[in-house]
Amino acid sequence: MFTPTSCLERRILINKRDIKMGNLVGYGVEDTMSNVAKMSRWVCLECHYIYDPIKGDPKNGIPAGTAWEDVPDTWRCPECKILKAKKGVFKRLDD
Ligand SMILES: [Zn+2]
Repeated sequence: MFTPTSCLERRILINKRDIKMGNLVGYGVEDTMSNVAKMSRWVCLECHYIYDPIKGDPKNGIPAGTAWEDVPDTWRCPECKILKAKKGVFKRLDD
């Protein structure tokens, strides 16, 4: 099971590791960029639409660069109109 906080927790772990390594020069910028690169895509199991956080869903009010975790529960799949909040419909794609 993936919880909405799992991504955040992983990010915190990475931050702790980087701080331990003394890797603090330019840290803020690199951290932001690596988080964007790490954002997972999610697939709708109803219609196989893939939500790509790099693209977002601008037609439905989700700007490009929006992590899945930040997409509101009221968002609907643009293909089959199923609610994001519905359990078990969307699955994380781990590349
Ligand atoms: Zn769908």
